[in-house]
Amino acid sequence: MADVFKIGLGNDYPEIRENSVSDFISFWEEQAKKLSWFSPWNKTLEWSPPFARWFEGGLINASYNALDVHQNNKAEKPAIIWEGESGESKILTYKDLWVEVQKFANVLKSLGIKKGDRVTIYLPMVPELPISMLACSRIGVTHTVVFSGFSSASLRGRIEDSKSKIVITSDGGYRRGKIVKLKEVVDEAIQNLEFIEHVIVLERTKEPIELSSKDLIWSDLMKDSSETCEPEKLESTHPLYILYTSGTTGKPKGVLHGTGGYLTHLNSTFGWAFDIKDSDVFFCTADIGWVTGHSYVVYGPLLHGATEIMYEGAPDYPDPSRMWSIIQKYKATIFYTTPTALRMFMKFGDDIPNSFDLSTIRLLGTVGEPINPEVWKWYFRTIGKEKCPIIDTWWQTETGGMLISALPGIETIPLKPGSGTRPIPGVTISVVDENGDEVSPNTKGYLIIKKPWPGMLLTLWGDDEKYKNAYWSKFQNSYYSGDYAKIDEDGYFWLLGRADDVLKVAGHRIGTAELESCIVSHDDVAEAAVCGIPDEVKGEVIIAFAVLVEDVEKNSSLLEKEIFEKIRNDIGAIATPKQIYFVSKLPKTRSGKIMRRLLKTIANNETIGDVSTLDDGTAVTEIQSMFQELQKSIKGKNN
Ligand code: ATP
Ligand code: MG
Repeated sequence: MADVFKIGLGNDYPEIRENSVSDFISFWEEQAKKLSWFSPWNKTLEWSPPFARWFEGGLINASYNALDVHQNNKAEKPAIIWEGESGESKILTYKDLWVEVQKFANVLKSLGIKKGDRVTIYLPMVPELPISMLACSRIGVTHTVVFSGFSSASLRGRIEDSKSKIVITSDGGYRRGKIVKLKEVVDEAIQNLEFIEHVIVLERTKEPIELSSKDLIWSDLMKDSSETCEPEKLESTHPLYILYTSGTTGKPKGVLHGTGGYLTHLNSTFGWAFDIKDSDVFFCTADIGWVTGHSYVVYGPLLHGATEIMYEGAPDYPDPSRMWSIIQKYKATIFYTTPTALRMFMKFGDDIPNSFDLSTIRLLGTVGEPINPEVWKWYFRTIGKEKCPIIDTWWQTETGGMLISALPGIETIPLKPGSGTRPIPGVTISVVDENGDEVSPNTKGYLIIKKPWPGMLLTLWGDDEKYKNAYWSKFQNSYYSGDYAKIDEDGYFWLLGRADDVLKVAGHRIGTAELESCIVSHDDVAEAAVCGIPDEVKGEVIIAFAVLVEDVEKNSSLLEKEIFEKIRNDIGAIATPKQIYFVSKLPKTRSGKIMRRLLKTIANNETIGDVSTLDDGTAVTEIQSMFQELQKSIKGKNN
């Protein structure tokens, strides 16, 4: 039986949910009217499966909705409070941002860039990153942001795929006190790419750089650029951006998002989920290189005229108190982060957050992976001081915005740690078996979306066939999310990990999330990952990896015994791993997600494929050598 927390912000608008039930198309039409359109649409939804065209014929502009609409009453309000890694800060008001965006849009225009072109943005977390994105959207250029931690090979692949004419980068970026030479990475990435016309270089670190004939300096270009640039009136389905997925399950996919539908989805979910008020200081820790940064650092908050914090560096630099010190310094009221970050903070104990004033916080959120109930409770207790609701928001790069979440802005719903609660209004989500039939309560199945929703991807860039195959071929007329879930007796959704990661032991299907949460609920364990390896008798046996909290002194066989005991009690003997490896790190994607497919590959002695999105190679090496040890010892025993 899950714990239930009755906590809410006290806003109840049940009519929003009711209205969404009878007719989802009219419902979203009403939501879309909250944005500013240059001209209304002819048709709310043109659905020729699996391609959706929302608000067809309507003309809109993203940067206009993010900036121009606030100039009457919020021009002097801070839009972005930026903190650099070394502690300096800068405030950009809505007016400042508006001016910078127009100037930079004029720069792009002066370089011959026009509607329909693509521009790749490879920048650290500096204000010029959202400025570049908004400038692109102002003139109908499709931006494609590449996380600035990626290697030149990954960057090159993405530039080649999108055929960008311009790359925007900086001389360097700060990461944990060191300078990463981004310009050099770009130089390597674009070698012999003739279609690249220019590289625009922002001087962030002022490191000496080599300039070629294609290179232009940001500040030179901006100096005399005009401060007014009319926004292009764009078709609602005009492509706003291409963004590659994290690559947790395989090679990243180039997700293409439109404008009107996407903005409608964000405008609605940002308000519903974060219950945003004019006085709020919103802090989302995501890098803009990921979809969370696109949707809930750039577009969502700005559409609402919110004030937000943008932080340049690593969350634990120079020490694990950084997030709490930022919250205290700027009096943040809403904090949105990932389970991975929370597990890391938790590992360092309560004393660190307890020594900061976090009393301004009134709402907490997570995204990116299933949150272990144990971690949820820590977040609730230690960060939220038992007074803040936690929203666990499920969504994907492909969905554009949240699809499952508690929505404190419109309802007070009791929370259960580890459950995202219910789908947002206006969407139809089910959990089904292999045949597409809905499963009974508390039964695991595939999470599918049965009707189009406004934030959904237009397609995969340049590959409609792959779009059809990846998402629309497994179940008829439904979007296949690739995630495994169950719905409990109260209609709450529980995300149980990736369908590809599911463990099949002696005919039972065990969700990775469930088992990992159980292991993490042991006091000494900070993080866990499980995977299956083939076994002649059982089909598959489970191998677990665990990272311990700081300063654990227990020996590993005692720990293993205690953890096994916990698994037997909480889930059942069937889920007991064959072995637990205690490691110092788990292999993760750059966005912080555990890469189970990699563990599986290593465990199965297969060659490691595409690891371009892997964060830290040492974790792989460590796990690989543990396996070799194991294999040796098994051989030894058999002899
Ligand atoms: P790829 O599709 O390339 O393998 P990815 O799925 O990790 O990469 P994203 O779009 O960044 O790329 O992540 C979406 C996925 O993250 C979801 O499908 C789900 O597995 C996981 N996820 C996101 N939010 C939650 C959440 N609140 N609870 C559980 N899982 C979540
Ligand atoms: Mg995915």
